[in-house]
Amino acid sequence: MELWTKLVSILAAGTMVLGGALEEAAPQHDANGTLFLVNRQYMVTDAYEPAELVEAQVPGQVRQMRPEAAAALEEMYAACKEETGATLISVSGYRSYTKQKNLFAAKLRRVNNKVEKAQEYVAPPGASEHHLGLAMDVGQLNKAALNEKFADTVGGIWVKENCWRFGFILRYGEEWESVTGYKYEPWHFRYVGKELAKEIHDANVPFETWLIDYRVRVLQNMLKGEETP
Ligand SMILES: [Zn+2]
Repeated sequence: MELWTKLVSILAAGTMVLGGALEEAAPQHDANGTLFLVNRQYMVTDAYEPAELVEAQVPGQVRQMRPEAAAALEEMYAACKEETGATLISVSGYRSYTKQKNLFAAKLRRVNNKVEKAQEYVAPPGASEHHLGLAMDVGQLNKAALNEKFADTVGGIWVKENCWRFGFILRYGEEWESVTGYKYEPWHFRYVGKELAKEIHDANVPFETWLIDYRVRVLQNMLKGEETP
């Protein structure tokens, strides 16, 4: 092999290894992964769209989610019905950037164009986790949806305690506002995958806080040549 061909192939192999490693070390930047981070600091652009969306087969509206999240949601709702008799409903799953932009604009008009006031209630376009197709606003049929009363319903109590079994976490817990940037939302659940949901649930900290810890662990394990978690 000629020297420069050899050099190119070595460089290409190096880039591949490095590329893979970087993705693993920074899972919050992998848009196709289940640990992709979206909040008021890490926003997506209007070019972002999940690779695939399906309609979760559950009661309610706006039921689109990524396939793995939709399947887990169906499983979770069925388990809630079986274990408590309560019927959970879908209130809002996937929202596109444009949809969020319109929601935000409408809110802005209602609060006389006070941006801060609007942001208290509606995420600006790009900052909503609903863009990912991994989040769902959960309600209980004929009881509560999108308000704090949901936390006291049979379904609300059950889903908070059991969501991790299906790969979901409560994203905006009480008193986490300074970290998440969002007020308490007992109805908003986000899919992270079954493998890590229990760990995040048990840690009882905001996703942002857990991610930092997780990344440190991944990097330490990489240096030691071990796998995470
Ligand atoms: Zn939500």
